[in-house]
Amino acid sequence: MIQEIVPIRSIAQLRAQVGRKRGLGQRIGFVPTMGALHEGHLSLVRAAQARSDFVIVSIFVNPRQFSPQEDLDSYPRTEKSDLAQLADLGVDVVYAPDAREIYPDGFATSIQINGPAIGLESARRPHFFGGVAIVVTKLLMQSQPDIAIFGEKDFQQFRVIERLARDLDLPVEILAAPTIRDADGLALSSRNAYLTEPERRIAGRLNVILRKSVRALEAGAITAPELVSTEQALTMAGFDGIDYVALRDESDLSELPAGPVTKPARLLAAVRVGGKRLIDNFAVRAIG
Ligand code: AMP
Repeated sequence: MIQEIVPIRSIAQLRAQVGRKRGLGQRIGFVPTMGALHEGHLSLVRAAQARSDFVIVSIFVNPRQFSPQEDLDSYPRTEKSDLAQLADLGVDVVYAPDAREIYPDGFATSIQINGPAIGLESARRPHFFGGVAIVVTKLLMQSQPDIAIFGEKDFQQFRVIERLARDLDLPVEILAAPTIRDADGLALSSRNAYLTEPERRIAGRLNVILRKSVRALEAGAITAPELVSTEQALTMAGFDGIDYVALRDESDLSELPAGPVTKPARLLAAVRVGGKRLIDNFAVRAIG
């Protein structure tokens, strides 16, 4: 029988567990999540298990990365089934603190990150990376892992956290794992649960249109930053808003010069369907 997992709720308990495992010379892996787990999250857990001896998964819906207009209150919370899925995988510790443990009264610190955090997601969600940076820094200090794994699904977030860990000398290796997709290629996301059936059909077009643009970029048939044809195809497919479609340098998300792609790049997009927001991204190889 699979053992039930009782989540750890306090920093002190987490530190005690990690301290014991470190004392035994074990390598600690960490996967932060906001819960409502799906196969994408589980793939990160498996990647952590393959690279470490003791895996901690956190479940924390971080209020600081939601603006007052966003879906903090309605964000899906499915702790019971999350715990069952993590128990099935044989995760060692689930850390699920409540908001007061992470942000006690009087909390007054923020982190501002520039570089890869500028533009793209930040243009629409200026609060977002500040919120992500503070919570990830705290979770990394609390769990003191050797490695932490993030999804390429949120590629800008991965690059931001990589930069943050380097800039703050956090003694952890930040790794990315590939995006896990549904049968039609839609990137799995906890927020896909918000989509109605017709919206879900339109959502499935996003990856198809982006992949087609990747092929055109790699063939030199379209060049950066001329992504008008991609935007037109998205509008034709039924998306009712395009926050951005952008080609950026793969390594630091800086802007690329106009013209053919001459170094590894990333095509990133955020679109809306029925007012719900979807993001996705693909690698683009340099020509030649
Ligand atoms: P979230 O719970 O949405 O904050 O995501 C927690 C982690 O899971 C982040 O590192 C995400 O990038 C990653 N993730 C979310 N969706 C996917 C997916 N479809 N494939 C791979 N990783 C994902």
